[in-house]
Amino acid sequence: MRIIGAKTVKTRKVHNCVGCERNIPAGTKMNVVTYTDGDIFHAYWCPVCQHILDETLIEDEFIPEGEVRNGNREYWEKIRREVEDGKGKEICP
Ligand SMILES: [Zn+2]
Repeated sequence: MRIIGAKTVKTRKVHNCVGCERNIPAGTKMNVVTYTDGDIFHAYWCPVCQHILDETLIEDEFIPEGEVRNGNREYWEKIRREVEDGKGKEICP
């Protein structure tokens, strides 16, 4: 599994975040990472999970789906409140 690209997009449809498995509504800025292991596929990260990845520097590791939230729910919830409630960047109304 190799990362071949990453960019931030404003989504035009609902995407499932690979970090927390929430359905993130269209119009949210999400980080899209393109991987290849022969086939190419995309992983969408919501701002909360991206924030945690940035802080913990595990972005090059392979992370099982939902693991960013399930791995440490209290910490994830704390960051969610900071990111989504704290700065007016609402994601899930
Ligand atoms: Zn997420």
